[in-house]
Amino acid sequence: MENLQIGGVSCRKLADEFGTPLNVYDENRIKYQARSAVSGFSSQQFDTEVVYASKAFSSAALFRMLGEEGIGFDVVSGGELYGVMKAGGDMSKVYFHGNNKSDEEISMALEAGVGYFVVDNVMEAGRLVEIAEKKQRETRALLRINPGISAHTHEYIMTAAPDSKFGIHIRDRKHIEEVIQKLSRSRYVKHSGFHSHIGSQIVEAESFEKALETMIGFLAELKADLGLDNMELSIGGGFGIRYLDTDKPVELGDMCARMIAAAERFTAEKNVSISKLITEPGRSMVGEAGYTVYTVGDMKTSGDKNYLFVDGGMSDNIRPALYDAEYTAVLADKADQTPEMTYCVAGKNCESGDVLIKQIRLPKAESGDLLVMKATGAYGYSMASNYNRLGRPAVVFAADGNSRLIIRRETYEDQYKLEV
Ligand SMILES: *Cc1c(COP(=O)(O)O)cnc(C)c1O
Repeated sequence: MENLQIGGVSCRKLADEFGTPLNVYDENRIKYQARSAVSGFSSQQFDTEVVYASKAFSSAALFRMLGEEGIGFDVVSGGELYGVMKAGGDMSKVYFHGNNKSDEEISMALEAGVGYFVVDNVMEAGRLVEIAEKKQRETRALLRINPGISAHTHEYIMTAAPDSKFGIHIRDRKHIEEVIQKLSRSRYVKHSGFHSHIGSQIVEAESFEKALETMIGFLAELKADLGLDNMELSIGGGFGIRYLDTDKPVELGDMCARMIAAAERFTAEKNVSISKLITEPGRSMVGEAGYTVYTVGDMKTSGDKNYLFVDGGMSDNIRPALYDAEYTAVLADKADQTPEMTYCVAGKNCESGDVLIKQIRLPKAESGDLLVMKATGAYGYSMASNYNRLGRPAVVFAADGNSRLIIRRETYEDQYKLEV
């Protein structure tokens, strides 16, 4: 009987030691992604920086590992910033995103010394300049531009529609110039460039090349009209991963290399220079490295469906319910057996939509089997809730035959400790 291993540790052993549902990361896989991104994303012509979008999965152990690879951090809230600070992250490499940062968050980030604010709108630019002045704290700002590019992705995670809530549209020169003016008058906030992010789970390189062409064209216009040159440019993240065996994303390292080549080509073509190119992978850094190990409970037929129930559900992975996201899974102890059943894998949350996999062919399952869902490393734990008072899973890193707990399982006590 073959037993599935993650990082050289059998899933059965992991389940026995840490319980289920359990999030397990293959640590070497994350390192590989980090290293291929850093090595692919380098240029002779401008500086480069790879920044991890921490919302995909945030943990001190991960932040320390990525920090050692020279990677910076993208945070969207005071809470995410706090996590990077606690992990001892290099603040000069922190990019503070978000479309509605509070005054408290701006103050906190300035005091922490974050390297960059990614400014979303005119009001924020005004508040940032004012608070930086009051605190006499220096920082740099990138203005988030909506390049108006729609990539092939699910509607809910498409951010560049003309009426998107993120950034200022590339054709809205009035508001773009208002931000530039506000920032240029500040002694403390240096306007160092622009940012764009076209969406998520984008598997083809052409969308990013198109975004680079558009953004570099935009920089060329600003150079001609306003004399701005040698700005920094962040092209965001959104690189797709392989959820199903049929998904064929461009590998992260190759994607990075193609973006560098495109940026070098378009800056030459459009006669504009950039001082630094930044990218912000989230999902592609951790997604495929992560697995969720569930224990199979009861099974039943309902209508024409064979339900297989697991001991977690939408509370630890809301993506199927939220985005119709698709996953695949195996039975850890039966990975070498031929599939003979079609199951609907459902969780134990009180929602009919709490289905993790609508249809999957598996060997005949028995109660107590381990069902391992693949590629759950991004936006699983970070979007988890304790709906129905299910505790969040424990998280484990596994590598070279060893495993270590990095986040302990949420207990009943943990869940009720905020009540006063
Ligand atoms: C979410 C997000 C990312 C990361 O997206 P992934 O799909 O996880 O790579 C990067 N930049 C910004 C601004 C984002 O909102």
